[in-house]
Amino acid sequence: MQMMAGKPIIDPALTSDEASNSVTKRVGGKLVLRPSSIASHCPYSYAQNAILGLKSKPSGASAGGTAYHYALELAYDHKIQTGALPPVADIIEIGRENWRAVQTVEELHYSSKDSPDKMTDDLANGLASYYPTMNHIIPVATETRLRVALPKPSSVYSEISGSIDLLAKGNIVRPKIGGGTETIDGVDIIDHKFTTKKSTTAKYRLQAGMYRVMVESNGMVATGSVLHNMIRSEVLKTKSNPTRLELVRPDWNEATKQVLRSKLTELIDRAELVTFLTHDLSVDPADAVKVVYPTTTPEASFLCNELWCGWWSTCTINNQASMPKLNLLDLISQYRNSKGGM
Ligand code: SF4
Repeated sequence: MQMMAGKPIIDPALTSDEASNSVTKRVGGKLVLRPSSIASHCPYSYAQNAILGLKSKPSGASAGGTAYHYALELAYDHKIQTGALPPVADIIEIGRENWRAVQTVEELHYSSKDSPDKMTDDLANGLASYYPTMNHIIPVATETRLRVALPKPSSVYSEISGSIDLLAKGNIVRPKIGGGTETIDGVDIIDHKFTTKKSTTAKYRLQAGMYRVMVESNGMVATGSVLHNMIRSEVLKTKSNPTRLELVRPDWNEATKQVLRSKLTELIDRAELVTFLTHDLSVDPADAVKVVYPTTTPEASFLCNELWCGWWSTCTINNQASMPKLNLLDLISQYRNSKGGM
């Protein structure tokens, strides 16, 4: 098992700057807006990476997720090329190989409930329990990179761009003009997550909607969108839960479209504001981000935790004194004066 589907067994991203940690991308000198930004749990955390281009301390949880994703990518590529999945033992071995590899290139941190051994077990159990579902899917393409225009002009972002984990054959039945129904072929959009928490249609609908817009803007018919959320094992006070698959299928409707548009507009506006503060008012970029991107709270997200968040030590939520004391009115007044009292 040296190669599968023409790709190396070890994820090439592990030897690049992308190992288990997304970094800022640029197109034409501007930043790229990622679909996952729509669902970011904390604006401050998002901006550290996406706006300031800083890299957080990598966690074992996210590195394990990278290994899980790459094993699925190779398995589905194999099915596209040969019509059949590789044996489940091979898929598990690829997951483990990548997990071993990522541990050698990154120093990872773990929550008190996690460990390298637990990740090894969860990866194997997750891939094994996902295998029957994979058998029913007819894959069309993995890691499909798609671009779409922004909903409004921006001096900071160039475009929305991201990869969709899996496009699979799908169809929809719809009413036909003149009566009856017709079946339309298209693609189902499948997103993989390897997490510790359940998701919900409410939490996932904007990211799913963003993928749908990207697929349809690129001339394909989107027949459905589903999150394949593999929830890792957990030991609770009264019971233990094994690693298990949850399917989340958000609706796509006019209300979601409008919320998505306003969320994108908000992200663009925030980035423009940071540019104004840094370029026109000479505010330090780190201070501008603290002012423009508020923190979340531990109650709002389980990821707001010392063991999970790579920005914990610099975050203003734990270090109130680091909140910049900017007098924005004074700064704007000075700016106006410098422009001749506009
Ligand atoms: S500690 Fe919480 S509020 Fe601060 S960056 Fe992390 S997730 Fe956001």
